[in-house]
Amino acid sequence: MFKQTVDFIKEQFKGQDFIPLHEPRFNGNEKKYLLDCIDSTFVSSVGKYVDDFEKQLATYTGAKYAVAAVNGTAALHMAMIVAGVRNNDIVITQPLSFIATCNAISYIGAKPLFVDVDFDTLGLSASKLKEYLFENVIKKSDGFSYHKLTNQKIAACVPMHTFGHPCRIDEIAAICIEYGIALIEDAAESMGSYYKGKHTGTFGKLGTFSFNGNKTITCGGGGAIITDDEQLAKRAKYLTTQAKVPHRWDFVHDEIGYNYRMPNLNAALMCAQLEQLNDFLENKRALATKYQEFFKKTDIQFIVEPNNSNSNYWLCAILLKDKETRDSFLEFTNDNGVMTRPAWALMTKLVMFKDAMHGNIENAEMIESRLVNIPSSVRLK
Ligand SMILES: *Cc1c(COP(=O)(O)O)cnc(C)c1O
Repeated sequence: MFKQTVDFIKEQFKGQDFIPLHEPRFNGNEKKYLLDCIDSTFVSSVGKYVDDFEKQLATYTGAKYAVAAVNGTAALHMAMIVAGVRNNDIVITQPLSFIATCNAISYIGAKPLFVDVDFDTLGLSASKLKEYLFENVIKKSDGFSYHKLTNQKIAACVPMHTFGHPCRIDEIAAICIEYGIALIEDAAESMGSYYKGKHTGTFGKLGTFSFNGNKTITCGGGGAIITDDEQLAKRAKYLTTQAKVPHRWDFVHDEIGYNYRMPNLNAALMCAQLEQLNDFLENKRALATKYQEFFKKTDIQFIVEPNNSNSNYWLCAILLKDKETRDSFLEFTNDNGVMTRPAWALMTKLVMFKDAMHGNIENAEMIESRLVNIPSSVRLK
């Protein structure tokens, strides 16, 4: 079965000896815009491509405002700052995620609290969130919720749309409103993914994206924050650009700021990549459909987009029978020129977060031991 799977994957990516997990594609206006950017000498943080990119990203996602950032982790950090997360607050997130989510929480001195994921969406579980909050927090007269055990404020909830598959974000949004918790979507992996027809990242106070080299569209390194709230957008722009008081020549700063801006060079790449996003999505969906048909004939389960959603299929994923089978699959594929990888080690297992609070995380544990990502690049025609 493993051999047939390797052969099938190789057939999808003909002409490649080694098939990586996710390669970037630069077949549009990337070189043209980069040259134009270099010729203009505005290669750094001021320039027309940064402005264009922010406008285009807002238009694409349907958010009112977009603020470019140097990477997705910085975007998450900034989103939490402007959402009001403070030192020692609690931020709820999922144990199955890339480390960046928890790193950003930790930069503020806040503490992650882990709630399980759903087995079908791979993202934060609305029902388990509801259950956890009902049992463990009290809403006070200031409108915020506090943990019963430690009296820490539950300042934010950061669900993540795992591998591009949207989680039950409308239910999560309703729960966050009920408990006075700021919702920030880590949409790093879900550029081009929709839930009930609405782009991921637009359901809460703020959403963040990553444009790292392995994501669906990329500029090498980059990120962005989206929001419908003008004040939050302005504050994010101001804090990511060193908190400078606007003036034609004076350099006055009235707060501790951050150098989190995206250079114009990277923004030029983003403008070219955004033009191709819909083609990339179609291409990736066609591959996912082929995988789905192929794995139907096997005892391996291909993970399809959840109900009510349109996934970007960023990283296609399969579930093996158990951990032993997973390990032999990883070994066989990687030995035979097909790059595959397991899910991340759960955050709850990492030394930094081993004492963090969490509810029952059985789904995350099961996914961690059985899931494998398989090659998912946009295929060249
Ligand atoms: C990629 C990613 C990020 C951000 O990563 P950067 O490399 O900083 O752009 C954040 N969260 C998740 C879940 C990611 O996959």
